[in-house]
Amino acid sequence: MKSYFRPEIDALAGYTAGEQPKIANLIKLNTNENPYPPSPAVAKALQEFDIDRLRRYPDPFADELRDLFAADCKVKRENVIAGNGSDDLLTMCFRAFTSPEHPVAVFDPSYSLYPVLAAMQGAEVIKVSLNMPDFSYPENGATLAGKANMLVITRPNAPTGTLCPKELVRKYCREFDGIVLIDEAYGDFAADNCMDLVAEFDNVIVMRTFSKSCSMAGVRLGYAVSDPVIIEGLMKLKDSYNVDMLSQVVGKANYLDKSYRAECISAIRRDRDAMRDALLKLGFEIPESHANFLFAAPPDGNGEACFLYLRENAVLVRYFKGSVTGRYIRITIGTPEENARVLELLTSKYA
Ligand SMILES: *Cc1c(COP(=O)(O)O)cnc(C)c1O
Repeated sequence: MKSYFRPEIDALAGYTAGEQPKIANLIKLNTNENPYPPSPAVAKALQEFDIDRLRRYPDPFADELRDLFAADCKVKRENVIAGNGSDDLLTMCFRAFTSPEHPVAVFDPSYSLYPVLAAMQGAEVIKVSLNMPDFSYPENGATLAGKANMLVITRPNAPTGTLCPKELVRKYCREFDGIVLIDEAYGDFAADNCMDLVAEFDNVIVMRTFSKSCSMAGVRLGYAVSDPVIIEGLMKLKDSYNVDMLSQVVGKANYLDKSYRAECISAIRRDRDAMRDALLKLGFEIPESHANFLFAAPPDGNGEACFLYLRENAVLVRYFKGSVTGRYIRITIGTPEENARVLELLTSKYA
């Protein structure tokens, strides 16, 4: 049959999401979800929710949420857009700022969705390699991004967990003539963030999600903060009702319980650092992580064998093929019991 698709779509491999297998007793540490449930306030909000409201469309702009986010970020409602997860907001940004004439620059390695979104636009991807062996960021990143119209900085980075120093981000924002998109999906696990750069520069977008630090990957909620002119432009190309009513209700309830969230985050950071120390003692190579996962190369440098060994033992982590990434596995930090099991398995294989 003849293809009716645009050539860009025919050529597209599509994004490979981490597996969501339905295997009983599997320890699932492959997609950086939070091991702790969302705030108890979520159950309460759902119990109190009047089902009749579902007949109506939701607030198309999710203004109540925008106001909450704006207050915390010390900006105005006009600076904020809500999305159906960060992936929705990323899609909007790639639609808005990339095309066959408008390339995008991404660091390599980083989030594997970016090149897929670029391909849908028929946009060239300029890959700026991180320095080896520590995955640090090149000082001349803005120059290397060349003629791109958008530069994406994942901060902390995935899958490495490393953090581009804030002064260097600032330098990129100053030197790069285009949009600087800072993806802070894991920002809550780091010691600092770049939200204040939105006030300093008019070409910066900072993006956050409820999927990782807020224990709500199933709900699909995220937001982006930028100059009002940029937000207004993104509003033009979003789906009319891109955040559904239930997400707005439970998102708000969860977001307001800040002390609960802070406790979960600090437990994860503590367990992350302890796990890294233990694996370093086994001879693993692991860059310092500022996120809720570790990018860990086993002593023999065979990431795939390590991934398969854990999988045979009902522990699922993430493995990324490639000459650099293939030496590593990415392990999401789980509950203390899950982490202990991973450590036990890795100790028996590598000690
Ligand atoms: C998980 C992740 C996202 C996507 O978050 P959703 O809100 O679940 O769509 C975006 N960027 C990075 C770097 C991520 O790891």
